[in-house]
Formats: sequence, C-alpha cells, structure tokens
Amino acid sequence: MLKAIFGFSSNTDFYNPVGKPVHDLLSTKEKIKGRVLPLLGQVSLFALSVGMSAMGASLEEAALSVGILGGLAAYMRHSQLSNYKKKLDNENLYDLSTPQDAARFHEKYPEHKGLPAQLHLIAAEAGLDKPPLLHVGENTDYAAILDLDFGKKKNLLIEINPKILKEESPALVAHLLAHEMGHGRLGHTNSLPAVVSGTAIGAHISAGVQMAVSGNYLGGIFYTVAALTAHKMAGAKSQQYKERECDRHALLVSGVGREAADFFEKGTTQLEKGAPLPLRIAFGAIDTYQSLMAAHPSHEKRTQYFRDFTDANHAYLEKTRIKNGLVPSKPHRFKMV
Ligand SMILES: [Zn+2]
Repeated sequence: MLKAIFGFSSNTDFYNPVGKPVHDLLSTKEKIKGRVLPLLGQVSLFALSVGMSAMGASLEEAALSVGILGGLAAYMRHSQLSNYKKKLDNENLYDLSTPQDAARFHEKYPEHKGLPAQLHLIAAEAGLDKPPLLHVGENTDYAAILDLDFGKKKNLLIEINPKILKEESPALVAHLLAHEMGHGRLGHTNSLPAVVSGTAIGAHISAGVQMAVSGNYLGGIFYTVAALTAHKMAGAKSQQYKERECDRHALLVSGVGREAADFFEKGTTQLEKGAPLPLRIAFGAIDTYQSLMAAHPSHEKRTQYFRDFTDANHAYLEKTRIKNGLVPSKPHRFKMV
C-alpha cells in the first residue's frame, strides 16, 4: 500500500510517447504521484506548521514571521544565482548564436564541431526563443540548466562538465542538452518553487520553536525533524517525475536513445546491477532511501527506460537524430558479394 503511494511508478504504460504533445509526457498516474500527491502533502504540512506557529502568538504575528521567512528564502535564492553568475568565467562561456563564440568552441572542442548547429536545432524543436548559453565548468557532474533571470525563460544557461565533452560522443551530448532544455521548456527552472519551499521550511522550524518556547523541547525538535523530512520526501518525489518527463523530452527531441542507455548503465552501481540476493536484501534500505529521497530516478530505471524506448521507437529515433545532424545509431551494413 505504502509502496503504491510512495514508490516510483513503473514506466511500462509509457514506452511509446511518440506523437504525444510534449506537455503531456507523464501518464495520469504519474501526474497524480509526481505532482498532485506531493503538492497536497506539502501544502497540508505547511498549513499545520503555520497553525502551530500561530498557537501562543497572534495570527498576525504568525503571518508576519512566515512572510519574513518567505522574504529570506527569496533573498537566498537570489544570492545563490548571483554567486553562480560570478563563477562564470568568460573563457568557458559561449553564446553559440554568435560566429565568434562558435569558432572559439570549434577550436577548443574539434570533436564536437557539430554542437553549435545541434544546439540551435534542438532549442528550436524544444520551443525556446533562443538557444541557451553554454558554460563548460565543474559546477555540475554531467549537465544542468539555470534561468539567470529568475524564471523568465529568456536567459537560460546550460552548464556542462568538461569531462562529458572530453569523454562522450556528440550524440550523448545532444541527448543531455535536450534533457536540460526540457527542464527549461517545462518551467522547471523557475525560482518560485524554491522560494515557496524555503518559506515552508521556515514555517516548520518556526512551529518547532513555538513548541520549544512553550516548554516542550523534545516535541519541538521531533516535530521539526519529521516535518522537514516529509517536506523533503515530497519534494524529491516531484523532482524524480520532472526528471522522467525530461528524459522523455530528450528522447523525442534529440532522437538519441542507445547512447543514453549506455551512459546511464555505466553509472549504475554494482548493487543496482544485480548483486547477490543477501546483499540486495541487506541494502534494501538504501534502495528505499534512493526511491524516497533521491532527486533523480535510479540509474537502473533510467537505463531500462532508454533501452525499451529505443526498441519500441527505432525508426522515429533514427529519423530525428539524422535531422539533428547526428550519425545514424546503426550504420547500414552492405553485404559483401
Ligand atoms: Zn534533469
């Protein structure tokens, strides 16, 4: 029962979303588990904390303190993005819509000479006004997207780790870019949810403090820890479904499935790959933790999805990747006669 509510949905009813509109990349069940339930959970918990903060204080005082906490959360988000902007060094920052930057990129990464053109094609396909800026840096392990204007979608930037450009194929890079642009297109880069979440965290702490002030120290600590854990769990669940949505977006827009499956399989831990049964049971808790708290679905689930999607939609993927200027995934073999 708990697993039915909290577990991550299986992919099986969604192996063939080709032809689905992009805003509809989750099944109804996934939307309920990934959006409705986490939101309901977080909102009711927030209301409970505000109510508890208001006990012993007037409603105005409680509203004021939550307001202050919200302002603080907005300020923190703002300074987080400003700090990130300071880390961008011009040498590794590329606006690939300009010929100068495209030439600079060619020179530094000759093995990815097709990337500027692919970035344009994928951005157009993803419905973005202009291709995101590209920054090659180590602020992320693989790739990540940020909205430098706090949610207006006008100034998107993709950060990509230099290791990815050095070690991976142009096809895999195109897949990662399409995944990140999915986050941009679907509004996942907006700052508002982070601010709302910060406010809720403030309200949970404030409720705990209110209990402690009225003499119940242990209860206050327990409540705050439990509320923060539940809040984080709900947030992680909705993040996992956003990742799934963007994985599907990446397949549809880049046409790259096989390389993505190989890439995520490399990142699969020994445990996920099928360790001996006793080990799997012993580490069952880690599995559960992963499915409850991680921001991404497990590598194993993502690998499996990319494989199954590739098998189910081979012709579509080939057509799309060729349109994006990528080599076909399986070159034609000519029979020697
Ligand atoms: Zn993602």
